[in-house]
Amino acid sequence: MTSGRGLSMSELLAQGGRSFSFEFFPPKDAAGEDQLWQAIKELEPYGPTFVSVTYGAGGGTRDRTVAITGRIARETGLLPVAHLTCVGHTTDELTAILDELSTAGVRHVMALRGDPPTGPGTAWTPTEGGLTYANELVALIRERADMRIGVAAFPEGHVDAADLETDARVLKAKYDAGAEFAVTDMVLRASDYVALVERAAAAGADFPIIPGIMPILNLGSMRRMVEFSRRELPEETTARLTPYADDPARLRAEGIAIATELCEALLGAGAPGLHFYTLNRSKATREIFANLRITV
Ligand code: FAD
Repeated sequence: MTSGRGLSMSELLAQGGRSFSFEFFPPKDAAGEDQLWQAIKELEPYGPTFVSVTYGAGGGTRDRTVAITGRIARETGLLPVAHLTCVGHTTDELTAILDELSTAGVRHVMALRGDPPTGPGTAWTPTEGGLTYANELVALIRERADMRIGVAAFPEGHVDAADLETDARVLKAKYDAGAEFAVTDMVLRASDYVALVERAAAAGADFPIIPGIMPILNLGSMRRMVEFSRRELPEETTARLTPYADDPARLRAEGIAIATELCEALLGAGAPGLHFYTLNRSKATREIFANLRITV
């Protein structure tokens, strides 16, 4: 059964077997826009299940997220998923954005709380007249818009979650509110993803959970990104990369090898697909696909 919202992620996954998807962010200027569309053009032939476009931290990319997802819907054969966060918005504003997305032809949304403007792990204060948690945004979307909904999941638990069981209950609350799939934060160890899926199943969150992949191409910037989210790179990963600290080309090659092994382990463990954080470039994803023998 399908509705005006289009196929559910479960239906899409069932149709195409394993799902491959790509995440982009709204660029700030014309050069960034060219780079994004070049990446979309290079990745479209792989026939991804969906491509998603983030909603800028602090809630600042409303117009660009709507414009890019709308253009993807109009000008490509790809299925766009627009991210939306609660940060800085009242429920009336969120409803207006959902209307804009709908008018632009976007039928899938990632419903997120968003990080506090001061960064992950700092105090979260909801906007007056807005929403506190992502499960409330899922419920709002179910009530006000005809859309399919995805949510965030965290392989090591969300930074603010009291413990891993509470974290799984939060995922279940998002499932109960009407979310149909989840995408994880970047997975650093396959075993963390497997444990998350087990916790989610035990809590009754019975939907596909797609692991997020971000290859390490530069050790310094990955370390900063991981530390910003209050996580740590696994010792085994840094041990493999540190010998190439002064050789960017070999470090990049080892980063691609590590990501390939991670993808193989995740698929081997039964992951329904892989979601690539592309940073608006296609090269690393295409290299991993070549290693996995995924062709256009
Ligand atoms: P929630 O599910 O609301 O959880 C937030 C915190 O509140 C957690 O610690 C949770 O345990 C706790 N919590 C939830 N519900 C309750 C409750 N009822 N009672 C008590 N505590 C509760 N950020 C952006 O700004 N833009 C993006 O486009 C974006 N895309 C993302 C995509 C993915 C796949 C992922 C994994 C994250 C993304 N983020 C994005 C980051 C995300 O917004 C942050 O990690 C945010 O801190 C958590 O969002 P959430 O939707 O999981 O929030």
